Amino acid sequence: MNYDSLIVGAGFAGAVTARRLAEAGRRVLVLEARGHIGGNAYDRPDESGILIHQYGPHIFHTNDKEVFDYLSRFTAWRDYQHEVVASIPDREGRTELPVPFNLRSLRLAYGAEKAARLTDKLITAYGRETKVTILQLRENTDPELSELAQYVYDHVFVRYTMKQWGKTPEQIDPAVTARVPVFLSKDCRYFQDTYQGMPLHGYTLLFEAMLDHENITVRTDTDARDLLSFDGGVLSFEGVPFPGDVVYTGPVDELFACRYGRLPYRTLDFRFETHDVDRFQSHGTVNYTMDEDFTRVTEFKYLTGQDAPGRTTIMKEYSRAYTGAPEEIPYYAIANDESAALYEKYAALAAVYPNLHLLGRLAEYRYYNMDAIVTGALRLSAALLER
Ligand code: FAD
Ligand code: UDP
Repeated sequence: MNYDSLIVGAGFAGAVTARRLAEAGRRVLVLEARGHIGGNAYDRPDESGILIHQYGPHIFHTNDKEVFDYLSRFTAWRDYQHEVVASIPDREGRTELPVPFNLRSLRLAYGAEKAARLTDKLITAYGRETKVTILQLRENTDPELSELAQYVYDHVFVRYTMKQWGKTPEQIDPAVTARVPVFLSKDCRYFQDTYQGMPLHGYTLLFEAMLDHENITVRTDTDARDLLSFDGGVLSFEGVPFPGDVVYTGPVDELFACRYGRLPYRTLDFRFETHDVDRFQSHGTVNYTMDEDFTRVTEFKYLTGQDAPGRTTIMKEYSRAYTGAPEEIPYYAIANDESAALYEKYAALAAVYPNLHLLGRLAEYRYYNMDAIVTGALRLSAALLER
């Protein structure tokens, strides 16, 4: 079969693009380095039959109706509103505070009377149901609010951020901690998006449905770098110049053999444990914001709603610097001026090949959620089809 378009990577970026192009009549070849589709959203049953997310907990949420409607073609949904607590050691053992830190967390931390006064002050300063980043709150000069900001910084942010990024909140891109602002509300959900949920039968089946099209061929266990070559503006596939569109969703530095040096990333080690209990913890995710080496523990049954009496599987996440070793996966781009400048050099190199398109969390080197990836893929495929 001759292909009109090549897609590298079968995560959300690659799969949505492949489907759109295929439905428009293009013959699409998808190359995926891993032994499965789905990218980091891949899920599967573990040895005890519990559905797990192999590459970290994925909860779908978006305000974009187009994205939600598009994915709804390939899956039904389970209504799920994610809640997270911070587990904090104290004299009695441990306390759990809702995260994002909100008006309920405030009451648990300070008691009813002081919390009522602080709530009034916060609402006067920022308004009801508003979100204030920890870095903004720390700028407040009111002595009591400044003390509160220090409390939240110390109990929720500084150590978790050190574990996750190896840096303090001030040393990383402010957009990162802004993802989890202080919320002047009693709403304990982690996300407030209009559409939230989990694919009813899991992400992998969603991807299977999306890639199930007569014009799509998927080759797993295939690293595109072994098949693609770049020379003087001509992109070749298996040694032959390839004139069609090539959508690349992997790390752009690795596509060009890291010739300008490696882009920095954080990688994660996941530790799974199956326990012979119905429930292991109080919420889908518990963040360890003061102690422990792991950042958070997720219990999948909360997310998936799976009915499995007497057993449950949890996952602990440990973050560290990505070194490029073959068994590591680059999960988080590290946004700063230096990495942005290095990324631009690779993007300029890619731009020498007019039929090469960089798409997705890795190829665009951005901290995107799944919905933003779907939006990007719908936009790129529309642009490619218009040309
Ligand atoms: P990926 O899913 O990384 O897919 C890229 C694919 O390309 C991979 O399968 C890779 O193997 C393949 N590939 C790379 N290079 C090559 C090559 N040379 N040849 C062939 N194949 C190649 N988002 C949310 O909205 N909600 C969440 O709750 C959420 N939780 C997350 C938790 C964690 C721990 C992480 C790391 C991310 C989370 N995300 C979440 C973000 C979400 O994972 C991404 O937005 C999404 O997976 C990005 O899709 P993608 O297709 O760009 O990349
Ligand atoms: N964060 C934190 N404490 C928390 C939760 C989040 O310090 O309890 C900070 C931390 O820097 C983290 C960032 O906020 O990397 C974004 O958190 P989010 O939960 O969005 O991260 P992700 O799920 O993408 O790993």
